Amino acid sequence: MSNPAPKTRQLLMSPRCGAKTRSGGSCRSAAVRGKSRCRMHGGGRGSGGQKGNRNARRHGLFTSDAIAERRQIRDLLGETRKLMRTMR
Ligand SMILES: [Zn+2]
Repeated sequence: MSNPAPKTRQLLMSPRCGAKTRSGGSCRSAAVRGKSRCRMHGGGRGSGGQKGNRNARRHGLFTSDAIAERRQIRDLLGETRKLMRTMR
């Protein structure tokens, strides 16, 4: 297993599902192409809502907009901290 065939290596390098399993580990199945989960964990065809649907919305904390906003704030904070370090 030190030098697997190229095809096998490609399979091993493919994105994994990573969903939490009942045994406490993470799912090691291959993620469906274009999705982040395997076919058993919500990556299957026709799984999930259409883009922009609000069917399961409760507070909006996990909408892509809210997540993007938090990321921007985090990035800005990181930049600011970096700047502050150079000013000392
Ligand atoms: Zn999975």
